[in-house]
Amino acid sequence: MEHISTTHPRASINHKCDFCLDIIPAKTVYVKSTYKYDGIYTWKSHNECSVLVTKLNMIEHCDESVTADDFLEFTKEWFDRRPFVIKKKTHFEQIKQILENKE
Ligand SMILES: [Zn+2]
Repeated sequence: MEHISTTHPRASINHKCDFCLDIIPAKTVYVKSTYKYDGIYTWKSHNECSVLVTKLNMIEHCDESVTADDFLEFTKEWFDRRPFVIKKKTHFEQIKQILENKE
């Protein structure tokens, strides 16, 4: 897999985050990466989800690409060890809560 580019555009319409699968609302700045792998594809995500992928070293553990399933597995394990995370919030709200609680 070859990384081609990463940009931080402002969403003109709602998108879906390819990591947490929640909505990236229109008008928010998100991460858009383009890769070459059996063709060209783009990967869109919340800034926060992208930060968490780096913070938890997911790429090292996932053999170069992190899928939504990998992301879910990592964050679930992370949430389970942190009782401050309120389970009824959306996945993305939990991620923001983790990032706000500096460790
Ligand atoms: Zn996300």
